[in-house]
Amino acid sequence: MMMLTKKMIEIRSLLQTVGQSDTLTLPSIVVIGSQSSGKSSVLEAIVGHEFLPKGSNMVTRRPIELTLVNSPKAQAEYAEFPTLGLGKLTDFSQVQRTLTDLNLAVPAEDCVSDDPIQLRIHSPHVPDLSLIDLPGYIQVTSHDQPMELKEKISQLCDKYIQPPNVILAISAADVDLANSTSLRASRRVDPRGERTIGVITKMDLVDPARGAAILADKNYPLRLGYVGVICRLPPQSGLFSRGSAPLTAALTRHESAYFSSHPTYFDASNPASGGVTVGTPALRKKLMTTLEASMSASLATTAQAIRQELDEATYDAETYLAESVDGFKHDFRSFAESFGRREVQALLKHELDQQVLNLLAQRYWNRPVETLEPPIEHGQSAMETLASLPKSTDDELWRIKLDASVASLTKLGIGRLATTVVASNLSDQITSLVASSSFAGSPYARSAIIDAAASILRELSYDTSDELEICLKPYKFRIDLSDSDWATGRENIATALRSELKDCEAALASVEDVMGGRKKARDVISFIDKVRKGDIQLDNTSVAAGREAVFLRDPVKSRGCARQTDKFRCPEVFLDAVASKLAETSELFLTAELVGKFEWLFPREIDAKFRALTPQQLEQFAREDPKVRRHLDLVRRKDLLDRVLREMEALRALEQAEGRRRRSG
Ligand code: GDP
Repeated sequence: MMMLTKKMIEIRSLLQTVGQSDTLTLPSIVVIGSQSSGKSSVLEAIVGHEFLPKGSNMVTRRPIELTLVNSPKAQAEYAEFPTLGLGKLTDFSQVQRTLTDLNLAVPAEDCVSDDPIQLRIHSPHVPDLSLIDLPGYIQVTSHDQPMELKEKISQLCDKYIQPPNVILAISAADVDLANSTSLRASRRVDPRGERTIGVITKMDLVDPARGAAILADKNYPLRLGYVGVICRLPPQSGLFSRGSAPLTAALTRHESAYFSSHPTYFDASNPASGGVTVGTPALRKKLMTTLEASMSASLATTAQAIRQELDEATYDAETYLAESVDGFKHDFRSFAESFGRREVQALLKHELDQQVLNLLAQRYWNRPVETLEPPIEHGQSAMETLASLPKSTDDELWRIKLDASVASLTKLGIGRLATTVVASNLSDQITSLVASSSFAGSPYARSAIIDAAASILRELSYDTSDELEICLKPYKFRIDLSDSDWATGRENIATALRSELKDCEAALASVEDVMGGRKKARDVISFIDKVRKGDIQLDNTSVAAGREAVFLRDPVKSRGCARQTDKFRCPEVFLDAVASKLAETSELFLTAELVGKFEWLFPREIDAKFRALTPQQLEQFAREDPKVRRHLDLVRRKDLLDRVLREMEALRALEQAEGRRRRSG
């Protein structure tokens, strides 16, 4: 029968290697007690070795998951820390030192850590048991301990004493049970006392009658009962030697001598004793049977939990990637559908509007034909020099100005400009698509996609801008506008100018702010007006700002321009109409050559890029998503879980067979 416990403890250890989980585990015995209640002494008596950290200042800071493995044939006893790789330790004082170091490594400000230390002890003298030693409850924090230590210890213990774990609540016989912290804690989570074993230590320190009364306690009844123990040899015995088997033997002798010397109270076979349970061997036995029963009871639910996790574990990095790529491509398709000719045209028109407005500002506004101002700055453009040509008839000058402005616009390098505008808009759209996709949390994928888009766009732009330039070449020589082109141009430019005017007003207000208010601004402006007429040299910054204000102040003039015949007097309308022509041609070309090709190439490039990932890269990429990381960890442990499940099922079959045999026999 005890083979079952051994098997179950093995399974429990396997599950431990799978990883911490609340559901994927089998119950253990959790040992709680206040400091100095004798908790360490009880554990050491069960193990038969002194191995726990000692010292008045030594507070256990991490749980110790102690697995005892009964190995009848093993010659030597040894301990091992499975996660530390220290090998087999036969010297138990080394175990004690390691535990001390591990405890001291917990930063003082954290007080305690819930990351358990795993320790396995193999010995012919130990029963198969799984115990968890927790930091002892403290009553008052001493001056060198953090204030919250008490609370943190209590929280840590609360986490472990949850069902289905068995609680081993240690209390000292010389302390009133009503004041036992461990019993109080256990009652909070196990009010009916169904999974708590009470251990009363230091039975030698109280009168036997009183000791027996505690064990038969009716105030705090526990279904699993109380066990009285003595875990310290009398000081004069001199046998309390470190880490040796005699400890167990001498202790057992001492303990049993004490209890048998008071048969009236402690002899279970004596009806007068009330059937109390005493002695470390009895405690060990109780622990074994209780653990076995509670592990068996948990087998079915744990197996079920494993099965459920396994079902979820079919999700792998590849599936995750495929889903993410599909989702992204779907988003991209929706974007592509919404990014049509109209959108490309609007983008281009907006950019060309800006160019037209710049030209107008440079060539017309603040440069009235009749007042040929002295040069304000060096390095003027050819057009500005044009403004200083000898005065001819007004009409001729207007004509020359318009022709030169149109030439400026058509020779601006629209092919390159338009291509850049559309390409950079596409690139921005991809960046924001990625940011709202499931790739958002993955730096690797994010840059892979953005790089893919950038390299396709770079490649396409190179040829496209040259070819578009060629397409636009005829406009450099001749531009024919229909009446409807003109009418549309007139309407468009009115809108563009209105919005420009609004921007100018806002800019003027902020320039005025810079200059310290409207009045001061006016003074500066009128001063600059004078400067423009005369030849005063200016170089201070507020004057530079003022100069800008002069430009912004002058309202954009609107003329009638109902007909094209006036075109040279209405450069705004004409230039706008030209810009529309350029935008239209560019749109036709770019929609096909840049947008269309990009929409075809991009999803394929994404596929190719992700298909080329090595399994390691794929895993690394998937792990960048925390949601997926947990799944992947589970997948990796799948084989292990499968094995555990098979063993559990075999075990349950064995258990049922044994049950049937017992019933029939
Ligand atoms: P812990 O702080 O709960 O781990 O308590 P310890 O096991 O370190 O014990 C606290 C003190 O009580 C130590 O000095 C032990 O020697 C002593 N002690 C433990 N068990 C017994 C016992 O059964 N009888 C007597 N007389 N002293 C004990």
